[in-house]
Amino acid sequence: MPIRVYNTMTRKKEELVPRELGKISMYVCGPTVYNYIHIGNARTFLNFDMIRRYLLYRGYEVEFIQNVTDVDDKIINKANEEGVSPEVLADTYREAFELDMADLGVMPPTMAPQATEHIDDMLEVISCLVDKGYAYESEGDVYFEVEKFADYGKLSGRNLDEQQHTLASGPEDRKRGPWDFALWKAAKPGEPSWSSPWGPGRPGWHIECSTMSTKYLGESFDIHGGGLDLVFPHHENELAQAEACTGKPFVRYWIHSGMLNIDMEKMSKSLGNIRPLREVLIENDAQVIRMLMLGTHYRSPLNFSDDSLADAGASLERVTNCAFNLEDALSRAAVGGDGKKTERELELSKKLEGLKDEFVGHMDDDFNSAAALGVLFDVVRETNTYVGEVTSGGEPRLKVSLLECKEVLDDMFGALGLFQTAWGTTSVPGEEPARAADGGPSRDQLVDLLLEVRQAARDMKSFELADRIRDSLTELGVRVEDVPGGYRWRVER
Ligand SMILES: [Zn+2]
Repeated sequence: MPIRVYNTMTRKKEELVPRELGKISMYVCGPTVYNYIHIGNARTFLNFDMIRRYLLYRGYEVEFIQNVTDVDDKIINKANEEGVSPEVLADTYREAFELDMADLGVMPPTMAPQATEHIDDMLEVISCLVDKGYAYESEGDVYFEVEKFADYGKLSGRNLDEQQHTLASGPEDRKRGPWDFALWKAAKPGEPSWSSPWGPGRPGWHIECSTMSTKYLGESFDIHGGGLDLVFPHHENELAQAEACTGKPFVRYWIHSGMLNIDMEKMSKSLGNIRPLREVLIENDAQVIRMLMLGTHYRSPLNFSDDSLADAGASLERVTNCAFNLEDALSRAAVGGDGKKTERELELSKKLEGLKDEFVGHMDDDFNSAAALGVLFDVVRETNTYVGEVTSGGEPRLKVSLLECKEVLDDMFGALGLFQTAWGTTSVPGEEPARAADGGPSRDQLVDLLLEVRQAARDMKSFELADRIRDSLTELGVRVEDVPGGYRWRVER
């Protein structure tokens, strides 16, 4: 079964057919680095991480380009406020963004080109548009003349004649038409600028994406993504610039991530309800945030609230407990009987196979992670039941059936990007943990040592000391559980 994606351009689900067999070229609009990103931005990046990981899971090679807008009005204004240069400000927040994404477990892009490092490339595209008559110079600015591009509006479905123009990319009197937008902005005193055939200035925002996407992925590529709020004007303008210059279709599939509301309200400065990702990450495990995001289809609006976080936390707990118990059962299980599966185990295999197909079916259907999560919980339920039977000793047990459960779970975690970076260590007594990279004792060895001491304390009935060791470890984020015949632990973020 092929993957089907909803294409904003055609407003329907289409079969995903990449330009090159087995390869997907993908561009997602990156951050404007003037501040820490908020949870709404994070949703967009998590959604495209989910899509990218699923394409990888389905065997595609994925080239994923995400730009960094490091010159922009917002950056210049904020730099002035903070009394630093725009370059320093942009560098600071670009690094903060990279850290945030790493903390969130988002895979780094194949490449993250920065606007300021591609000024010459942009000047080439702007010259191409001027030469072909799609753009004109006006008092040191260069504008794209929307009237000249007959297809303008085809992505967003807007009919510009029927609309009052509400946006302005520059002073009105410098433009020929109300919808014309700036490709190049003449330098103002105190602003960063580069020389150009039209005098010193800096590029507009839209031109950087057309330029960098086609530079790295070719004049036509497979997927262009971004938040729903970018469809107009940003993506409409990107498309106009690229197609006017190359004369070729720019993008095969336009994918847009839905908006995020806070407590059912739009996140906005005026409401004062903007939640920086950093703040949310301090209070919550990154996996909880991912779980919350996966629970809503990527195109639907998502409500972010303390309640929805708590729900996601509870869901995650169910999954981690299942994985934990499964690991534990695996460490104890042996190949039982004559190595043949019982009827019960054959039935389990069949069920797991069916659930796996169902999972893939949902993800293939426009990356329906919410429905796929539902199937993951079915697998959790099946696994819990079987692990319960195995550990109670009521049924003959086969390691291979436990491994099957683990394989299916790990497979789904990988496809959804769950636990791909933050899944803590699980240590089983009797297994020698590896030493640290510098040859000294590793964290795992030291935790094991402390837990051996705790065990000795318990054996000597010094329960107070034993509890103190456990509680101190809990404070450090190491969760300890006593199980028959010993203990086990894992790191929680
Ligand atoms: Zn863009």
